[in-house]
Amino acid sequence: MTRPRQFYWKGVHVPYIAPWTGEQKPPGKVVLRKGRGGQGIGYDDELSHVDRRYDALWIRRAAVRGLGEPDLAAVHPYRQRQAMSHMLCQVCGASTYNRPDERHLFLMRSADGRPIGEGEETTTPPVCEPCAVESVGACPHLRKGYTAALVDYAQIWGVAGLVYDPDTLTPLSGPEGRPISVALESPLIRWTLATAAVVTLHGVTTVDLKDLAAQ
Ligand SMILES: [Zn+2]
Repeated sequence: MTRPRQFYWKGVHVPYIAPWTGEQKPPGKVVLRKGRGGQGIGYDDELSHVDRRYDALWIRRAAVRGLGEPDLAAVHPYRQRQAMSHMLCQVCGASTYNRPDERHLFLMRSADGRPIGEGEETTTPPVCEPCAVESVGACPHLRKGYTAALVDYAQIWGVAGLVYDPDTLTPLSGPEGRPISVALESPLIRWTLATAAVVTLHGVTTVDLKDLAAQ
């Protein structure tokens, strides 16, 4: 896969997974639905190939990068999912299947220096080396502390999102409004309105980004 078009906003390299204000879409009416996999939530006008993935219903967003202004603090659900399922760099969108060791680089915020753990769940897609080096210099969150690891493989574990109460169809979030992580095999998966894919990381080796960049 070639590198998609890059966007810059006020001198900032806009990450591939960042949503733009022009990517709004009417949210869709959530209804009770009985599908092949059992009962759960659906849209009254659901298009299964667009709205459903990993058995979960997905929040609706348009996909028009570059339209309006970027929201650098948010994540576009479809591009995040695409980055996870195809291992694309979250910043430039290029494939991270290009290292000679066939591993993928993951970079995460870590104010206390805690490394990425074996089997750790994450919604943060991989990053290519040049973008990792660029990010630690440019991203205010990462400047407070980060950790990097090379990972043998990332496996889709589930989704993160709002879980709807089966009785009242009230959407529920986690503490402080954070999304709830739901495993693929959980009966809650069909009651979840997903905003991101969750992977687990395997064969994790902590690396020093400076050493990696110097090699
Ligand atoms: Zn990149």
